[in-house]
Amino acid sequence: MSFITRFAPSPTGPLHLGHAFSALRALDAARAGDGRFLLRIEDLDQAAAGRSSRRRSSRIYLARPCVGDAHPATIRAPGRLCSNAEPAVERGLCYRCFRTRRELLGLARQRPARAPADLFRRASGAAEEQARLVRSEPFAWRLSIARRARRSVAKINELSFADETGLVKVDPGRLGDVVIARKDFSASYHLASVWDDALQRVTQVIRGEDLRDAAHLHTCCAPCSPAAG
Ligand code: GLU
Repeated sequence: MSFITRFAPSPTGPLHLGHAFSALRALDAARAGDGRFLLRIEDLDQAAAGRSSRRRSSRIYLARPCVGDAHPATIRAPGRLCSNAEPAVERGLCYRCFRTRRELLGLARQRPARAPADLFRRASGAAEEQARLVRSEPFAWRLSIARRARRSVAKINELSFADETGLVKVDPGRLGDVVIARKDFSASYHLASVWDDALQRVTQVIRGEDLRDAAHLHTCCAPCSPAAG
């Protein structure tokens, strides 16, 4: 099977027309390429906090008949995939970020010209970080885009993805140093999405315009993912 695509909604709210459009585009592409169409429920909140979003997930399952019989969807149970950030941490691609969302917003307002990655970095060096660790303060793992770029075998700036107008050159730093493991869970959307795509051997990701910035990041991180080695 050479063509595998997926529709991966998060059960964080009701499905809307945008979801339907993305799902149909992916399904059409799978049919045209004689490939497979996967349905994956990306339920990180349930995995993180045991919060039940089962009701919303089951609504997504109800949409399954729309897919038709010719190309049956593969359904993955929520929380069965998504991995953790350990391999990236072990490879020195991440750093701890203790800052809260409120602190980051405050800093961004104070120094709007600062590069996003600077805002995320530790406030007062290794000693402060050590003290926070001793106090068991929660932290997130952020991916250092600069380190990722340095370690890359392929030049990530040469990668691209397709949109309606043609090929778009990847801008790896567009979202700054993103969180790949949340304070409350061993993954974030960005990590889980790339990781699960690799595990499920997804060859084409078809998604809405609202995820364009994520596409820049995910395209350049895909070579780190498990299937790609
Ligand atoms: N789970 C994401 C969402 O519902 C989209 C996943 C993706 O296409 O990467 O917005």
